[in-house]
Amino acid sequence: MIKTENLTKVYNGNKAVDSLNLEIAEGDIFGFLGPNGAGKSTTILMLVGMIEPTEGKCFINDVEVARNPLKVKEIIGYLPENVGFYGNMTAEQNLDYFAQFYPMDANEREKRIEELLELVQLDGVSQKVGGYSRGMTQRLGFAQALLNNPEVIFLDEPTTNLDPEGVLQIRQTLKKLSDEGKTIFFSSHILAEVAQVCKTIGIISNGTLIEHGTLDEIKAKLDVRKTVKIIVETQNEDMPKIEHENIVTVEYKGRRAIIEAKSDIRGEISRYLLEHNIVIKELRIEESTLEDVFMESVYKGKGGK
Ligand code: ADP
Ligand code: MG
Repeated sequence: MIKTENLTKVYNGNKAVDSLNLEIAEGDIFGFLGPNGAGKSTTILMLVGMIEPTEGKCFINDVEVARNPLKVKEIIGYLPENVGFYGNMTAEQNLDYFAQFYPMDANEREKRIEELLELVQLDGVSQKVGGYSRGMTQRLGFAQALLNNPEVIFLDEPTTNLDPEGVLQIRQTLKKLSDEGKTIFFSSHILAEVAQVCKTIGIISNGTLIEHGTLDEIKAKLDVRKTVKIIVETQNEDMPKIEHENIVTVEYKGRRAIIEAKSDIRGEISRYLLEHNIVIKELRIEESTLEDVFMESVYKGKGGK
């Protein structure tokens, strides 16, 4: 379990992270979303014990990080935003170097490294790491973060700058780890990524947590205030003018109409078209995407409506 209590970091009088209160359950895949400069990396650095909070506390499995940095390092894995390796060594040699910081003998190290290279699909690669693509380096970073078989894993923007194949591999690895019961803290500014893999999400903007919950919970909360987008298409005829007091805007495109309404008026639209003997091909509500949720939250967080 990951927990923060009023976690705050001040740099030069500015709050990079402002009174963050988070609770992430064991086995969760948590997506920490926010634009650049929002405070994601600073939060992670405090959670992994690399920097100290200005105020507040954080806990990993009930261990207070700032008071027990060594104990915490035993139970966590961390993939930093810009992971670095020795370019003149192979993946195996790099991992063996880092594994020596953990209490494993040579046999255990060899076995663990073999398993991990297979997991991140770098087994059989004999090339030196200096010649790796960004995606391969990132996957090796993943393996490094898992050397000590951690219970809780922090990944700082692991998919940024990866090609689609690399993103897919990271996603598959995350799923495997989650199935093993690991708790995963995954930061990203890429909404689609978070929607694909995460069970719960938190949205941070200007150091403040502005939303936290499951994706559906957050959507439901925002939907109350939002208009509904309805797409309607006829089978053959041109779309007639549709009128209803709850309609805010309508855009007509031949047989199609895209309606923004204050409520779900699909029933009324359907009845109206039936009365005009028009056959409906499609009538649906367009789900709000994570992008909408994100933009609305960030806008609100910056002092919008
Ligand atoms: P993110 O990872 O979400 O892009 P960061 O946590 O890196 O955001 O940064 C949050 C804010 O804190 C930014 O305004 C950044 O400029 C500032 N910041 C981060 N690290 C430092 C530092 N070491 N010294 C001064 N300011 C910093
Ligand atoms: Mg960052």
